[in-house]
Amino acid sequence: MRIFFIVVIFIGLISCTPTSTRDYSFIEGSALTVTVEKQDNGLWLAHYVFAEPQTAMILSRSRNDYRTQSWKSLDPNASFERINGFDAFLFENPTTNVSFEFKPYTGRIYQDYSPFIPFSDGGVAIYAGQFEALSVTDRAAIEELQGDIYNWQGQQGQLAVRILSAAPMIENGEIVTGEALDISTGGGGYIYVGNAKITEGKDFTGVIDPGLPNWLRERFDDDLTLIFDGFRELWGASLAQKSTVLFSFRGYQGQGFSNKGGVFGSMLTLDMSGSALRTEDKGTLHATHWFFAHEAAHLFQGIGGLHPSPSHHAWISEGGANALANHVLTHQNLVDEAYIVSDYSRKYAQCTAYLQTGKLSNASAQGKFEVPYACGDIMAQITDGALQDHSLFDFWNAMPTHAGDETGYSTDLYFDTMRILGAPQSIILGLQKIAHEQLDDPATLLTELMEQSGLAPKFDNTGKLIALKLP
Ligand SMILES: [Zn+2]
Repeated sequence: MRIFFIVVIFIGLISCTPTSTRDYSFIEGSALTVTVEKQDNGLWLAHYVFAEPQTAMILSRSRNDYRTQSWKSLDPNASFERINGFDAFLFENPTTNVSFEFKPYTGRIYQDYSPFIPFSDGGVAIYAGQFEALSVTDRAAIEELQGDIYNWQGQQGQLAVRILSAAPMIENGEIVTGEALDISTGGGGYIYVGNAKITEGKDFTGVIDPGLPNWLRERFDDDLTLIFDGFRELWGASLAQKSTVLFSFRGYQGQGFSNKGGVFGSMLTLDMSGSALRTEDKGTLHATHWFFAHEAAHLFQGIGGLHPSPSHHAWISEGGANALANHVLTHQNLVDEAYIVSDYSRKYAQCTAYLQTGKLSNASAQGKFEVPYACGDIMAQITDGALQDHSLFDFWNAMPTHAGDETGYSTDLYFDTMRILGAPQSIILGLQKIAHEQLDDPATLLTELMEQSGLAPKFDNTGKLIALKLP
């Protein structure tokens, strides 16, 4: 009997050894600490420790339903469910510790960051924000949120995500081993895990996917520097620190090409795929440069420390990044006039078609995510043209200095800054109408504002924009 008892203890100790050496401890100051690691069975583990005992939680980034298929609770006290648009944890008894096992989701999520971005050599970039959970009381409280995160009224605490790995990791531009940390409130960045070579570029440190086509990989450093040089010159400022770039290639599948980017402080993620990338051609190169410049614009928009505009006013940050990108690409001779005209022609058609049926501030909620990019780009060029003594770069420089209590790029800050920099009242009122109201005749209003701000638009007899002059 006694021997049996000792043997059991002995086995228990042996089987505990691999996990007992791992650090799942709570990180002081966080509301929740999530420790993430790949297990021997190929699945990943997310171990949550909460500062306070919880009865239920929602995952704040629940934009599509991928977790129902891939997440499983390892704790009999806890269940994982999808409730009215939110992925949720429900606990039978209040708890501070719970573990889940999951298969990483590497797909793209429209208008959210990919949870895991795969690199072609087996490395992976892990998005810390995918683990963000917010406190709720119970199932009924989750149902009441109606799938809209803006209905959640709690006080959001800090999220600490700890990645454990034997492979090298990149945390805030530094290579670390064993453990990498990402601490955020309402955001989170990417941590790269893998054995890829770290590239030291002129303007970045990072991982460039070895699977990227040669023509693109070889010129990336020079192209990015050309774009950054343009921003530095036109913005009149530099980034506080060298950026970290995680550039992945998902392969040649799919027609044309597609890309997805993200900016997290000084980190830039770029992710491309598609059959058009097999060969270098002018159109693909223009579009690639535009993609780099748009994402670089977001890095510069972050200089003043303000958050991007909220999704119902995405036209400010996203349209602004589009317009800033086109100015930089033109300034650096990376695109020609024909490209610019065809780009704005397409955006004008896209923007006016939508505004005939819906409000710009509702576009994202209706799934028309491309609309704020299109309308916002034209609105930014109108803003630029309306400012006689200032460029669009000056305008973006000025917004943080006039922000006062504002923490992000709001419509109030946008229009106040226009006023301060001397834009005519009629143009400000016109843009405010587009930002907030349902319009009777959006094409006429947009055309009038383009004319008033000196963009000199010309149309053919079908109403297609065929010429314009950028400020
Ligand atoms: Zn963007």
